[in-house]
Amino acid sequence: MDLIESYKNCVLCPRQCRMNRVTDSADGKVGHCGETHQLRIAHVGPHFGEEPPISGKNGSGTIFFTGCPLKCSFCQNHQISHRGLGSGTSLEELGVKITYMVDHHHVHNINFVTPDHFFPHLFQLVSLLRRDGIDLPMVYNLSGYQSVEALKSAREYVDIYLPDYKYSDALLAAALSKCRNYPQIALEAIAEMVSQKGFLDSLLTGVPLATRGVLIRHLVLPGKVANSINALTTLFVEFGADLPLSLMSQYHPVVNQEDDDLNRPVSEEEFDRAYSHAKELGFEHLFVQFPDRDTGKRQADSPFLPDFKNPDPFPSKQRKSP
Ligand code: SF4
Repeated sequence: MDLIESYKNCVLCPRQCRMNRVTDSADGKVGHCGETHQLRIAHVGPHFGEEPPISGKNGSGTIFFTGCPLKCSFCQNHQISHRGLGSGTSLEELGVKITYMVDHHHVHNINFVTPDHFFPHLFQLVSLLRRDGIDLPMVYNLSGYQSVEALKSAREYVDIYLPDYKYSDALLAAALSKCRNYPQIALEAIAEMVSQKGFLDSLLTGVPLATRGVLIRHLVLPGKVANSINALTTLFVEFGADLPLSLMSQYHPVVNQEDDDLNRPVSEEEFDRAYSHAKELGFEHLFVQFPDRDTGKRQADSPFLPDFKNPDPFPSKQRKSP
């Protein structure tokens, strides 16, 4: 694959900007993701905030990519998705950092966080890592806003998909992420992921660490419980009770939001309504991140409010288990 050619008429995500990411940036133009053809990374390091079959004891080996095709207004990683924090790197330099992480921290997998606008680089990187003997599961940590075509091209370079299903409500998707078509696009994307990899294997075989499959995440947003309830129903109807699902409460306002609902954390009552609905539907494999009762500690200690200006962006290494 010619890396440069892949970025000249960019249709890597459903935004289909058709930007020339090689030359347009010289005129100050970039696509919705905000990135040129230069690979940029904000952080490489072990992360303990994923679900237990992903983080395990030693952590998941995360690589945070700069920029984002979705750019939700409330993004918890605002510094890198909206403000472009990160540094240019070559694949070889990145490979060295990942190898160091594997050798020194013994992470259980390699976890690419929001990499879809750099898929051509990523496929070469995975080939490089495998060539160098890293045989850990390759995890794609995605927004759910991917085209089926892009996912088909990823198939041989991925073992585990961790997609979000953020919105069932097209108007909410339009208001918060400028993509009214998110609900349909994400359902088609998840169907493709499941057809490629099946459901997360560790849940079906009872082993502690996942090696292959799909785990869906849904973040309950404050004031938007109806969206969550419909999203959960849709997932259940489409994929059934065995679909592995992670229900998350970690939302916290990072920048001031136009929609005032989003200027506070989700309440216990709101989260409980979503959680009760998931249980009533009958999901068999549910990870639950309950809201923290100690809201005073939340901002300072939360492992879900990273500061990517720090060499260690995640202050706490604990995740709430179901
Ligand atoms: S990856 Fe970026 S430039 Fe390419 S289509 Fe998506 S938003 Fe546009």
